Amino acid sequence: MVIVMRKGATEQELETLKKAIQELGMQVHVSKGEERTIVGLIGDKRNVEGFPFTSYPGVESVVHVTHPFKLASRDFHPDATLIDVDGVQIGGGSIVVMAGPCSVENRDQLLETAFAVKQAGAQILRGGAFKPRTSPYAFNGLGEEGLKLLAEARELTGLKIVTELMDIENLDLVLEYADIVQIGARNMQNFPLLRELGRINKPVMLKRGLSATIEEWLMAAEYVLSGGNPNVILCERGIRTFETATRNTLDLNAVPVVRRLSHLPIIVDPSHGTGVAGYVPAMSRAGIAAGSDGLMIEVHPNPAKALSDGAQSLTIQQFASLMQEIRALVAALGLRMEGVEEAAGVRSV
Ligand code: PEP
Ligand code: MN
Repeated sequence: MVIVMRKGATEQELETLKKAIQELGMQVHVSKGEERTIVGLIGDKRNVEGFPFTSYPGVESVVHVTHPFKLASRDFHPDATLIDVDGVQIGGGSIVVMAGPCSVENRDQLLETAFAVKQAGAQILRGGAFKPRTSPYAFNGLGEEGLKLLAEARELTGLKIVTELMDIENLDLVLEYADIVQIGARNMQNFPLLRELGRINKPVMLKRGLSATIEEWLMAAEYVLSGGNPNVILCERGIRTFETATRNTLDLNAVPVVRRLSHLPIIVDPSHGTGVAGYVPAMSRAGIAAGSDGLMIEVHPNPAKALSDGAQSLTIQQFASLMQEIRALVAALGLRMEGVEEAAGVRSV
């Protein structure tokens, strides 16, 4: 249930209402939008059945949220969430690009890629130091050494860092280096891990699980939000279907669906979504056209030699020409590229 406060409701009215809600044994989450304040009630619905909230001063209406996710819902937070990663905005009408290798392999590989993606216009460097691999015999990432290389790349290029965290054990370590903590598809429903992420003060990028419905995905986000961390970015990276021509099926339906249901930003990952470098440009353009807040793209100086996901990695040149196309598309749609000074976007967020 959410309670919509009247325009101009006072702090005192809000406080009185919050107290009444807490006395009913419910948790209160307040969301202050530009226009209105919205109060979310979390807990057992039966506690508040029949309670006369509308007779409290400052209350405009009571909305019964039918989705199982509350804090992730647009009902609770009508304005799009804007996440500020040290000056880089995610969500709210500007397009952000995260790019880099699947895995951090060595210093030369990472720095060459970092400088190239920066030059091409990306704002965030991706790279896995802890890699979830299907085979235990495959390259599992450089661990802390990889994180240190990412930090060096950030120092040298000014790019922000997004990197994957796989377990609670490495949370503090990853937090020392990452600007955004990536939770991979395989961990989307690792509930103890999600609960821990609710307590951190860095944004979390939650990738959609291999077979997760959109509702399950938003419920996973709800774990992080309800723990007190409001900065969750969703990432559509393709789902398992019967189709084998591509590695996954990039579910671009998820973009408008998530934008309708939720205020959280959504990023599209056409690299894992297709598994084939040749399909990445088309699906990148489609992701932006569908309304995503940005892209995550794998780039490698020599994909044929990559230690992971070479088949879906763009070369530096391919990435640079894709970025030109993206810029043209963003302009044609009346949107704005993050980090580029242009007229504000016209898309409703
Ligand atoms: C990745 O981003 O390299 C990755 C492992 O992605 P996913 O969790 O979507 O498979
Ligand atoms: Mn990968």
